[in-house]
Parts: sequence; C-alpha cells; structure tokens
Amino acid sequence: RGNNVQGYAPICLGHEDFFMRRFYHRVQDCFGRPIASAPDAWVDVVERYSDDNNKTLKRTTKTSRCFNLGSYNYLGFGSFDEYCTPRVIESLKKFSPSTCSSRVDAGTTSVHTELEECVAKFVGQPASIVFGMGYATNSAIIPVLIGKGGLIVSDSLNHNSIVNGARGSGATIRVFQHNKPAHLERVLREQIAEGQPRTHRQWKKIIVVVEGIYSMEGDICHLPEIVSVCKKYKAYVYLDEAHSIGAIGKTGRGVCELFGVDTADVDIMMGTFTKSFGSCGGYIAGSKELIQYLKHHCPAHLYATSISTPSAQQIISVIKVILGEDGSNRGAQKLARIRENSNFFRAELQKMGFDVIGDYDSPVMPIMIYNTAKIAAFSRECLQENLAVVVISFPVTPILLARARICVSASHSREDLIKALQVISKAGDLTGIKYFPAAPKKH
Ligand code: PMP
Repeated sequence: RGNNVQGYAPICLGHEDFFMRRFYHRVQDCFGRPIASAPDAWVDVVERYSDDNNKTLKRTTKTSRCFNLGSYNYLGFGSFDEYCTPRVIESLKKFSPSTCSSRVDAGTTSVHTELEECVAKFVGQPASIVFGMGYATNSAIIPVLIGKGGLIVSDSLNHNSIVNGARGSGATIRVFQHNKPAHLERVLREQIAEGQPRTHRQWKKIIVVVEGIYSMEGDICHLPEIVSVCKKYKAYVYLDEAHSIGAIGKTGRGVCELFGVDTADVDIMMGTFTKSFGSCGGYIAGSKELIQYLKHHCPAHLYATSISTPSAQQIISVIKVILGEDGSNRGAQKLARIRENSNFFRAELQKMGFDVIGDYDSPVMPIMIYNTAKIAAFSRECLQENLAVVVISFPVTPILLARARICVSASHSREDLIKALQVISKAGDLTGIKYFPAAPKKH
C-alpha cells in the first residue's frame, strides 16, 4: 500500500519536505494538484497519472469532483454569490483586473476608499489601510512599526509572514510558548522591570504578536489574558485575524467579539481577505494616527500596485451581506451555519477516536497523524472516495507532528459532511491513526 501511492494523494502542503522527495519520489506528481474550479464545497481536482507504472514520463490527466475540506472558504463567499458576484462583475467591467498603479499614484479608486472605511467600521477601529496581499501585509508592516532597539514578543506558532516581518524589522525577537499568556508574562518580565514607564526602559517599543485562530492548530487565541498582560507591561498588541475575522464572533467580527474584548485594547489589528471574504489582500486597522503613519511610511503602500478593484468590491459586498445591509439575513445564517458545521464535525471526529486538536467554534480542525509516512496514504484513501483534504508535514509543521488539516465551511451541507466523516473514518482505520478508539460496545 505504501509504495504504490502514485496518482492518489490530493492537495498536499509540505511537498518541499526532503523526506517526501526522498522516499516518495514515485509520487512526486501527487502533490500540488491544480484545482479546476472555484474553492466551493465541491471542487474539480486535476490528477496527472502514469498509465505505464512510471516506465515513461507520459502522463494522462483526469479531473475528479471532490468534496472540499481544504479551502479557507469559511463563509462560502469563495464562489458564486447572488449579491456579491454581480457587483464584482460590474466592477470588473467599469474598472479592470488591475489598477496598474500604486495607491499614492493613480491606484486609489473610489472603491478603495470605500473599502477602507468599510473595513474599519466592521472590525471596530477608527481607520484602516488595505494591501494587495495578506502575506505582505504582515511582512511589510511589521518592519515599519518597529526596528532596531525594539522588542517583538511573538507566539511560537505564528505564521511565516509574521516571522518574516519580524526578522526583517531588525528588532530583537523573543518567542513565548504557543498561546500561553503566563509564559508571555514571564518573557516580558525578563525583558523589563514591572511598572517601568515606556520611556524609561531599555526597549524603545514592545510589540506582542498573536493570531486570532492559529491556522495549523485550529485553536483560538487567549486574547483577554494576552491583552491584560500587555497592558501590565505596556506592550502593544498586534493581532493577526486572518482565520478569525468573518469566521467567529456573533456577527463575524472575530476574537474581540467572541471574548467581549474592547477593540481599543488591540493596538494593531491585521487580517486577510482571502478566507471568509473570498477575495485577496490584507488590512491593518487601528487608530487614525497609526493608519496615517503607515500611509506615509509603508513601502508596500507607496510602491506596490494597489489591490485590484473587483477584489476590493468583493470585500465590500461580503461585509454588506455579513451585516445584513444587502436586505437579507443570509450573513447571519452563514455565521450560524459555520459554527454548527464546525462543532458538529469536530465532535464527530473526536467520537470516532481521532486526535483532533484546536477549539470548539474554530472551523480549522487538524487531525493529528504524527507519522509523516502516513500522510500520503491518508490523503490518497480520501481522494479515492472523492474527498479532498490537505495533509501537512515538515517544513510547515515539525516532522513528528504531521497532520491532516480540515477546514469546514458554511457552504458544506450536513449530508455531505456526514458522508465525508464516513470516508475519513475508513481512511483513519486503514492508516491506523485513530489514537483514541472508542471503547467497544457492551452487549
Ligand atoms: N496570516 C496568517 C495567520 C495566515 O494563515 C496567512 C495565510 N493563510 C497569512 C497571514 C497570509 O495571508 P494570504 O494568504 O492572504 O496572503
């Protein structure tokens, strides 16, 4: 089973892994499979396979319609939407796919200014600035906010874009144990004497960086505790809500709403539009002074072409649907649906005996496989039953913490989720990854 895996494993992060290249050289075309449709509940996965057991390099392609548990399309706006799509098409006709200019030249359209007002209002901050790429929002903004003489205290499992931004800033970096406010406090205490005024300490500035939902762990940030530690040590809070904005909170406003944290206590709110909003780009929201400063100093704002206007229009339209400003209650329904779907799926996986990590309410649920050698087999078994899952290993995660990462969407029907659970259960039995099997029933 393990050797002849060619042609089956679906979408797979971690294909750069030296282990995979070395031991799975026969399956190299199993990874990075193109998707030939929108990232909806069902997707067309293009497979390339060999007819002659790899004797020649000849490949045939075939497209399979698969149930999609891999995309970040949390609210289902990543595909056709009766309110958003016509507006995006209209915007494409009126503007074009590109503004062909940076924000400060001719790349700010009326849609861009509307978007920034809309995002600020939605996340509960006085102002916002948007960028064409989520990754670059972190990696370009952090070096503008802090530099040499500053201290960044970063969660140990923060996203690569944060790590890159922090490294590029020249600030000193300290890492605290993942989602542990007590350890954050210890790190801060080591760096500064408690109660010292901001101006009298060795660091010019301290920024603590956390995420709303951690994309590889599926857990939700302990924001209230983090905020109170930061207040005590007078550190700024930088919150990346890539996976939480639009996905959690009663009205989709992310972790602040979920925990009832005042948004004024989060100094820098970052998020991306590539998940719940089904678009592209990222934002920073905060005080008017902060946003003004970024508009004057951030190279990604000054020198990069602005986010495309149809993409900006998509985000505005999605926010309107979420807030019910389209005249329907579809937004509220979608938010209720993603919560129900996520909690249902997580509970069922746990009942089956899988080692599922993360928190309830989070649509991201990693099934721990641990053994990297098993990830291709697990995904292959799923794909054979038309189920597309993302499996992840080194370098995305430590090599001994390989996992399948399920992303649940509001666009998934309960019926399809139940069928998917059956497939996952079977694949779990075949690969031996049900580490907590249910106790046998007594007769
Ligand atoms: N921050 C986090 C926490 C992410 O998970 C990601 C990517 N998924 C990004 C930033 C980068 O965003 P984008 O993919 O929109 O560029």
